[in-house]
Amino acid sequence: MSTADGPKEFEFHWVLDCPCGETLTGLTEDEIVEVSLAHLGAKHPDMAEAYEREHILFMARRLIRS
Ligand SMILES: [Zn+2]
Repeated sequence: MSTADGPKEFEFHWVLDCPCGETLTGLTEDEIVEVSLAHLGAKHPDMAEAYEREHILFMARRLIRS
């Protein structure tokens, strides 16, 4: 059973500008959280502990896809 292909899931994507200059993107909340946590863990291990899903979603921008 798949609900991932509904149009609503893909009307926007998430963008997070990391202070280090890297731009992280994800198509869904889960994806931007996963990508960001992976980036933090790899590049900013001391920050990684402090950041949780809600912090990432708070910092991320949602861009409507055209
Ligand atoms: Zn970074």
